[in-house]
Amino acid sequence: MIYVHVPFCKSFCRYCDFYSELTCGKPEEYDAYIDEICAEARLRSGEIRESDEQLKTLYIGGGTPSVMPLRFFFDLKKALPEGPYREFTVEVNPDDIVGRGYEFVRMLREVGVNRVSMGVQSLDDGLLRWMGRRHDSAAARAAFQILRAGGIDNISLDIIFGIKGLTDEMLSRTLDGIVEMGPEHISAYQLSIEEGSQLAKDISEGKYEELPDGQCAAQYKLICERLREAGYRHYEISNWARAGREAVHNSAYWRRVPYVGLGPGAHSLERNVDDNAPGGLRDTRSWNSEALTGWTRSFEVLTPEEIREESIMLGLRTAGGIDAALVAGRKELPEGLISEDGRIRIPEDKWFVADSIIADLI
Ligand code: SF4
Repeated sequence: MIYVHVPFCKSFCRYCDFYSELTCGKPEEYDAYIDEICAEARLRSGEIRESDEQLKTLYIGGGTPSVMPLRFFFDLKKALPEGPYREFTVEVNPDDIVGRGYEFVRMLREVGVNRVSMGVQSLDDGLLRWMGRRHDSAAARAAFQILRAGGIDNISLDIIFGIKGLTDEMLSRTLDGIVEMGPEHISAYQLSIEEGSQLAKDISEGKYEELPDGQCAAQYKLICERLREAGYRHYEISNWARAGREAVHNSAYWRRVPYVGLGPGAHSLERNVDDNAPGGLRDTRSWNSEALTGWTRSFEVLTPEEIREESIMLGLRTAGGIDAALVAGRKELPEGLISEDGRIRIPEDKWFVADSIIADLI
């Protein structure tokens, strides 16, 4: 399981605080980064092989991987241990797909990409402009057609809700448009205020007010209902899929399967057996520093209790829930949880308040 972070964007979105460098898209801007990430892939090939045994997934995220020259995809593929990857996802921006066209998608297929995740966010042009997205709704629709024509048969589209100014009618129109396109997978994220984003600054300057919780909950309910009617299975708080099209890579994160993260903003999860550690098992999490080249890795060792809590937090966000053994010491479970067949779950109608249920549990 490999995650590769591409730290470039052509513009910054109002709500985003991810580490990324502004780029104007000239191929030579990326040379140093490409050489460095390929060197890191070679250096960590043993680790990658070990973590990749079970799943064989590769996820290139960002930033905006679709701004990268084709050389990046081909060189990276050569530097990584042999595929083919069961799931090879690339995140794209609609504007890049429209600009680079069918031939770019065909080359992505040639390098082995079999899944694309596209940030549509909304099909309302006013809202897209406010978010600072560089595409409009027509570009999102056109990009989807280009991806299909280029042979991508597993597409995930992202949308955002919980925005002041997003009415139920606007959200319904976006959902109708998304369902009409017919992606295999949909992710819907509530707008969050990230420290360091333009949006956080807007709030501190009194230019934006957060949408009240009750209205966010109503929008989430609308999304759940509309996607259920359209035949999507809600398998994680923010994710819906057609049968059999659940994201393999992301689902493994939620089960805490070890993975290797490459690139300046990437995390890894490593599992080391250490006889001296309490419980005999330690998880080591590493992350790279935020620097375009010459990045270094820092480490954090998780205690068994931290591992247990993280497993509960991630598992309860999924339809499958957690093994009841993870909360075996508790006499009573907080309200809102279902216990059956040795598993504990939060039902879909309580997912919007999952964080507070989970907080009561751990
Ligand atoms: S949301 Fe994506 S495209 Fe927008 S600034 Fe963040 S990383 Fe870049």
